[in-house]
Amino acid sequence: MTCGHKLGWYDLVPLFSWVFLGGKCRYCKSKISKQYPLVEAINGFGYVLIFWLTGFSLSSICYCLAFSIFLVISVIDFRTQEIPFGLNVCLFIIAVIRLAFNFNDWLDCLIGMVAVSGFMYLCLIIGRAIKGIDAFGGGDIKMMFATGLLIGWKANILAFLLGCIFGAVIHSIRMKVSKDTDHVLAFGPYLCMGLVIAMLFGNAIISWYFGIMNISI
Ligand SMILES: [Zn+2]
Repeated sequence: MTCGHKLGWYDLVPLFSWVFLGGKCRYCKSKISKQYPLVEAINGFGYVLIFWLTGFSLSSICYCLAFSIFLVISVIDFRTQEIPFGLNVCLFIIAVIRLAFNFNDWLDCLIGMVAVSGFMYLCLIIGRAIKGIDAFGGGDIKMMFATGLLIGWKANILAFLLGCIFGAVIHSIRMKVSKDTDHVLAFGPYLCMGLVIAMLFGNAIISWYFGIMNISI
């Protein structure tokens, strides 16, 4: 970013290049942010976890791609409070591809598109009408629309609830620690955490919950 030098492939090997270059640009010696190796490491760890938990299939490849997008959305939303529309479109396309090969899930997934996003949209409208504030960002709503198609309505609702819990807990801790009262809440990263957990463990968590509640679904 500093010198604009075009990097060769050997400068772009995930994690290793950063380590071997000592976190500095080969050409101008300026420091390369720790964010890059960190994101690369989390991404690699995520892929291993997904293949380990769900085996090697078209679904697991789709989950890996979605995981990478969740990671990118988290970083961008955290820094800019904005989720790029193109990334939500990517999530939607991944969901369509997965569904085309797992057609039995179609009803679950179609309901998923509106199960959370519809509720969020309603909150947005009511919040605007009553208090003139946005309850949710448009990007968050579009993301939950796409992920509903990817993971189905039950897992999507779980992801939303987890996202709210993570957001409430982690955000209050961050506000306490930084003593900054007008911290804007970027909801995307928390939703993404919830989405990853719901994508990987959703079915297990949901059947466990309805098991102890003695409800069959
Ligand atoms: Zn440089």
